[in-house]
Amino acid sequence: MTRRRATAPALLVTAEHGGNRVPAAYRALFASHADVLATHRGYDPGALTVARALAARLGAPLVSSTTTRLLVDLNRSLGHRRLHSEFTRSLPRDERQRIVERHWRPYRDEVERHVVRLIDEGRRVVHVSSHSFTPVLDGKVRNADIGLLYDPGRAAERSLAARWRAALVALQPGLRVRMNYPYTGRADGLARDLRRRFPASRYAGIELEVNQRYVLAGGRDWTMLRRVLLESIVLALG
Ligand SMILES: [Zn+2]
Repeated sequence: MTRRRATAPALLVTAEHGGNRVPAAYRALFASHADVLATHRGYDPGALTVARALAARLGAPLVSSTTTRLLVDLNRSLGHRRLHSEFTRSLPRDERQRIVERHWRPYRDEVERHVVRLIDEGRRVVHVSSHSFTPVLDGKVRNADIGLLYDPGRAAERSLAARWRAALVALQPGLRVRMNYPYTGRADGLARDLRRRFPASRYAGIELEVNQRYVLAGGRDWTMLRRVLLESIVLALG
């Protein structure tokens, strides 16, 4: 293996909010809330489609969940007040702990195993966590098509996000790509947790946020956007 190949980054793709499935044991909790499950509160529409496409395009491992975030949020840390939703927060402590052990921890462990394995192979890991955001929240229109979230204190993440944005805009002029929007990259989440475990020289985490406007509209714009996302990450990883 050449030196150049040995130092090429390895991509890892994850989708914490990939679906709105409710495990059988918890169906009663959501029996009269099918409407909520179907919205952005239940999952991130389109995020799993994008994650699968990215992983396939780059031959990267994919870790994804199709269980609703309203059971337990895989993008929240243990102890975070929004780890559990209003549907599960009032469950007895044992039951909440069981949900964590059966649904949260195996997911987090699987992601971490991939990172450790890739680092052990001498690779630098680029982790793309695929998400989507609702076009309007609390009456406010979100002015972006794509958000790239990263930790501004980690130079590798900052430059990767800049390269990705440049590639996106080059491929689709007029695309509104915003940094650390609609959330800050340093907020609680899977990537932040991994940054604490792995050094910046080995791990870079970018949270990709796609406006659900594209997903919900479907059609050519959504197909185009997915294509642009795939080609741009290839260019950004260079
Ligand atoms: Zn999400």
